[in-house]
Amino acid sequence: MDTSMDTPPVFTSIDPRLEPVVESVLRRNPAENEFHEAVWRLLRTVGPVIRDHPEYLDARLVERICEPERQIIFRVPWTDDAGQVQVNRGYRVEFNGTLGPFKGGLRFHPSVTSSIVKFLAFEQVFKNALTGLPLGGGKGGSDFDPKGRSEGEIMRFCQSFMTELHRHIGEHTDVPAGDIGVGERELGFLFGQYRRITNRYEPGVLTGKGLAWGGARVRKEATGYGCAYFAQEMMRTMGSSLNDRTVVVSGSGNVAIYAIEKVHHLGGQVVACSDSGGYVLDRAGIDLDLLKEVKEQSRESLSVYADRRPGAEFVPGAKVWEVAAEVALPCATQGELDAEDAVKLADAGVQAVAEGANMPCTIEAVEVLRDRGVLFGPGKAANAGGVATSALEMQQNASRDSWTFNHTEARLVEIMKEIHTSCYEMSERCGAPGDYVIGANNAGFVKVADAMLAMGVV
Ligand code: NDP
Repeated sequence: MDTSMDTPPVFTSIDPRLEPVVESVLRRNPAENEFHEAVWRLLRTVGPVIRDHPEYLDARLVERICEPERQIIFRVPWTDDAGQVQVNRGYRVEFNGTLGPFKGGLRFHPSVTSSIVKFLAFEQVFKNALTGLPLGGGKGGSDFDPKGRSEGEIMRFCQSFMTELHRHIGEHTDVPAGDIGVGERELGFLFGQYRRITNRYEPGVLTGKGLAWGGARVRKEATGYGCAYFAQEMMRTMGSSLNDRTVVVSGSGNVAIYAIEKVHHLGGQVVACSDSGGYVLDRAGIDLDLLKEVKEQSRESLSVYADRRPGAEFVPGAKVWEVAAEVALPCATQGELDAEDAVKLADAGVQAVAEGANMPCTIEAVEVLRDRGVLFGPGKAANAGGVATSALEMQQNASRDSWTFNHTEARLVEIMKEIHTSCYEMSERCGAPGDYVIGANNAGFVKVADAMLAMGVV
């Protein structure tokens, strides 16, 4: 998966009082482009709350919010199947623990750097705040590439990674989860090593676990379902819904598959989805059983889907955004939808775009969508269903309980509606009704800033 962002951030406008903060972030975090962009994207939009709360500036809250509480970088040595010693680098960035234990996933992918982890951890702080649940923000991972590695190699890597990480985490301190390259199998190896080292059965230390050992129902579906629910709420503000809408989704991984499933439950029709090799167009509506078989079980290319589905066509090397739709859900990776794609979508009549992935739309794409009057739901709001359900998993672990699928999904729906309402109301208060970027950034920022203010200089 390509997670690079080669183009420098486009700096357009910002409250002048925040310029020194941006300059300081650039100077003190050299060459960390992804982190710079994430900070810039937030600070350029929080002018309204800064104007209303001069006490934030007096307390130097913005500077404090842009500085991680703790960054841990460590060596991960392990032995491959040929008996060769391999060395990877591990990261955990504990960005802000004001609202609860640090919370955020672990990513194992060769593109992982300090900048990527810091950008994801920074985003996570505000996403977690928006859920209204007691969660701080963090993120971690390694430049280890699980692709092509044997199960034994992955286990030895995970054990070595946890041998260092265990001293920094705990159910009241920092609670990692999965992300790209870290699924239930890896979480099992990590949890096993944590239990062995600490001699504690502490399921609340990790989320995304298997159902048999402390996991929660709906966690697998939560990010995709949540994204579809958020899109539904956005459509409702126009007196519409997802029912009978034509939808395109990028990706065909965990987020994409369950976004497609929920769009279908809500009466919409997903006609195209993609993977890193191209996209599949299926005018009759994506066949979910076949998609799960090809991508979840066999982990094959989407071209196999088209080979097996009459009427479907695989378009190699192209982006799914060339397919006309009323709703678009980018659910693959960051930076995958640029200004040109946004123009194509808008020209074809798209009404709403909700981000299932983290920052899949470039700044320029977001501006095109805004100028063309397209509703846009940023990831920190639209994909918060995953972390919200992780918090529900922590709740079940703390009370030694296990909820039903229906009960857990009902809580997820409630949380997504509340996130939508708080973003929408904040956008109105900021004088930009329906601008969910302004709404989400200001609503998340205020929650963190007010709690930090209450706790003094920490
Ligand atoms: P997966 O690894 O399960 O799936 C990613 C999918 O995107 C794969 O189908 C992959 O194709 C495809 N893909 C990769 N690059 C491209 C590209 N350039 N164009 C089109 N498709 C591409 O990841 P997840 O679904 O778990 O995560 C997706 C995104 O959502 C990430 O940004 C992640 O950080 C974010 N996210 C995930 C959450 C979760 O709960 N899983 C929670 C919140 C955010 P291929 O099959 O060929 O590799």
